[in-house]
Amino acid sequence: MKPSFRIAAQTVTLSAMRIAVQCLLLLSGSPLNTRRARRLHAFTLSFCALALLFVCAQAPGSAQASAQKRLLIYSIDVEGGQSTLIVAPSGGSLLVDTGWPDRDGRGTTRIQAAMKDAGITHIDHVFTTHYHVDHVGGVPELVKHVQVGEFIDHGPNREDSSITRRDFAAYLAAIEGKPRRVIHPGDTIQIPGLSIVVLATDGEHISAIPGVKPAPNPYCASERKWPDDPTENARSGGLLITFGKFRFLDLGDLTGAKEVALVCPNNPIPPIDLYLVNHHGMDLSNSRALVEAVHPVVAIMNNGAHKAGMPEAWQTVHDSPGLQDLYMVHTAEGSDAAHNSPEALIANPKGAPADGAYFKVVASPAGSFSVTNSRTGQTKEYRRK
Ligand SMILES: [Zn+2]
Repeated sequence: MKPSFRIAAQTVTLSAMRIAVQCLLLLSGSPLNTRRARRLHAFTLSFCALALLFVCAQAPGSAQASAQKRLLIYSIDVEGGQSTLIVAPSGGSLLVDTGWPDRDGRGTTRIQAAMKDAGITHIDHVFTTHYHVDHVGGVPELVKHVQVGEFIDHGPNREDSSITRRDFAAYLAAIEGKPRRVIHPGDTIQIPGLSIVVLATDGEHISAIPGVKPAPNPYCASERKWPDDPTENARSGGLLITFGKFRFLDLGDLTGAKEVALVCPNNPIPPIDLYLVNHHGMDLSNSRALVEAVHPVVAIMNNGAHKAGMPEAWQTVHDSPGLQDLYMVHTAEGSDAAHNSPEALIANPKGAPADGAYFKVVASPAGSFSVTNSRTGQTKEYRRK
């Protein structure tokens, strides 16, 4: 539909009502006692019907245009890894991580299902937060099936372990000859309509986001000392994605010491609407100084049935001031009922006939958003006050 025909739904309704009122006034005010008057009456009636038809014909297009002004975020079930698909109203797309290596194409099939739902056929940017296998492992299979514009990462593998060296090598082999970009804190990922800022990567972090004044963080004083982490987790990339007033925070698997370094003593991150729970809800991450300072409205934990979703991290996020709901991709089967969310907030509860259900977040630039559980089809709205 041409932009000039994109009339908002409210405008369509108002226009239709105005035409109807004007027509009624015209018709009621003209007596039908002459042939000419009757002709004029018939002409007015036809004109009004045509005008109403034309305006109402725009309604489906306007509803579509309105739907197109939404940011889509999918938290895909990759069984305790990360794969998060972000699709802007412009159609521009970013996939943060690709989950585990192929298991009969399971991860890629689930990514493609989310792409289909979002109406995209290729991915503009694939961002690998770090080189652990539950984040980078899906790239070799993905590139066999999905066209990718560019691959983004933090540069060389920094972890001295044979398994991570192997997974990094498999990643490099899979993207050989394809566009690759190494990013640094403060860099941006360009998608029209979105602001995507790299907060942390390769163990470094920003101290301020342009246009956002860092605020003293009152939660730092009581924060415990977190151990240094020599693994790739501490090198994890972290993004703040802003769409109008809506903000989404994804810090990958960043661990406690680096979280605290990022937000203490001054916190550069403004209050957020949606928090992807760090590190799948591991206790090595999710310091109170981070979680409470960023003040999420909703959190999604991408835990597996038997991976992460740990009680302490669950409790920290659950107790965060202002949090309305904590969604979980799976029931944390190693945890107890007191540290699992209600079943309606779990995509793949214990005993469900099949895995693979995802959460779909639909956000408006005004800041309101909804979360749909693909298993139940239930959608819950979160309105900006
Ligand atoms: Zn992980």
